[in-house]
Amino acid sequence: MVGVKTNRGSIKTGMVLNATAGWCSLIADMAGVKLPIETRPLQACVTEPLKPFLDVVIVSGTLHFYLSQSDRGELVMGAEVDPFTSYSMDSTLNFVEGLAAHVLELFPSLAKVRLMRQWAGLCDMTPDYSPIMGFTPVEGFLVDVGWGTYGFKASPVSGKRMAELIATQATPELIAPFSYDRFYEGKLVGEKGAASVGH
Ligand SMILES: Cc1cc2nc3c(=O)[nH]c(=O)nc-3n(C[C@H](O)[C@H](O)[C@H](O)COP(=O)(O)OP(=O)(O)OC[C@H]3O[C@@H](n4cnc5c(N)ncnc54)[C@H](O)[C@@H]3O)c2cc1C
Repeated sequence: MVGVKTNRGSIKTGMVLNATAGWCSLIADMAGVKLPIETRPLQACVTEPLKPFLDVVIVSGTLHFYLSQSDRGELVMGAEVDPFTSYSMDSTLNFVEGLAAHVLELFPSLAKVRLMRQWAGLCDMTPDYSPIMGFTPVEGFLVDVGWGTYGFKASPVSGKRMAELIATQATPELIAPFSYDRFYEGKLVGEKGAASVGH
């Protein structure tokens, strides 16, 4: 690795970390590294504000949705990733129809509640649902990718351990199981329950 070209000019460096989530396989491709990752949209939505009635997060692994109430009273709801690969961040009617049907099975009293906002993001899904962290076959090109639907809560510790790896050139024990090589060595780390909602 000798550097990166950006739209603000070139940067000389012997080490580059790819942490671009849903776009990571496109970036890895630029360095000649193939990642075992599929990019899938994940959607969520919120309702109009309601008086507080829910102070826990409801997650149904059977009905594949989660629901909680924010401090503003809005219900925040989501489900599993879309069942196709795509780089589109468009929201779909198909998603809200499926989600609403499942939510109403548990909460029929919400039938008249209106949706306020809906959005989508891109998730980097690995075959075992665990992230890929560390060195790749290209010297100086590192990855911290594959967090899929649950990377937000893992950001602090993954950032800390990746910084340690870069500073010491040694893989910290905590992240060793998430190596790129595991896919070649058959040492997958099954993590289907990580996001609580079924995949
Ligand atoms: C609807 C939804 C709900 C979610 N809910 C949760 C949740 O409840 N809990 C949880 O833990 N996680 C959740 N996630 C997953 C979580 O958001 C992601 O796993 C996490 O944000 C990934 O962090 P990251 O730092 O790896 O990548 P990101 O935060 O996605 O950052 C990647 C960055 O790379 C940049 N980039 C892309 N291409 C290039 C390029 N060519 N050059 C330079 N930069 C580039 C992008 O602009 C972006 O800023 C959710 C995701 C979605 C979509």
